[in-house]
Amino acid sequence: MNIDPISMRNEKIGKKVCDTLNSRGFSAFYCATKEEALSKALTLIPEGKSVSWGGCKSAEEIGLIDAVKAGNYIVLDRATATTPEERQQIMKQALTCDVFLTGTNAITETGELVNIDGIGNRVAAMTYGPDSVIVIAGMNKLVSNVMDAANRARTTAAPINAQRFDIKTPCKIDGACHDCNSPDSICSYIVRTRRCKPEGRIKVILVGENLGF
Ligand code: SF4
Repeated sequence: MNIDPISMRNEKIGKKVCDTLNSRGFSAFYCATKEEALSKALTLIPEGKSVSWGGCKSAEEIGLIDAVKAGNYIVLDRATATTPEERQQIMKQALTCDVFLTGTNAITETGELVNIDGIGNRVAAMTYGPDSVIVIAGMNKLVSNVMDAANRARTTAAPINAQRFDIKTPCKIDGACHDCNSPDSICSYIVRTRRCKPEGRIKVILVGENLGF
């Protein structure tokens, strides 16, 4: 008999976490694979809508960003900006787009999201503005509780994320969080999303694979 204990466990706990998220006003979906997650995400983005994103390695990894760029959507992609001013403008427009795509630094078994942000654009859009927010999260983001979530965001997600940028932070040097107060800190805002209001605005697609960091 072909038994994959990791997939079995992922499905069991994934569905349970989705039920818990739903009880907190999120619309949550468990998808066993990246392919299923991509199909599900696309059903949640009506054609012709404006779409933007922030901090979304997981969405990239399931192919969602490429699919949106190739699809019939109004795409607000700050990476296309040719000047810092244009980049800022696109980031501001993203705060009122129709659909905002993001990952999450951690998701708890009790149905809450925890996210860290340097300048706050991502957590702002998650909280208010876009009509719809789609969170793509792999099983590696799942932790027991809010304390573990904050710990994961600070000691795992942020020091890895720091390696992508030309910044002067202690974690960039040695890979560990030093609770810094550096001007370049990417941890200015730590947001705990413990409910979704209005109900259903934030959709969470929990994928039974590891995604992002
Ligand atoms: S060292 Fe600073 S920037 Fe790096 S993870 Fe810790 S608080 Fe964030």
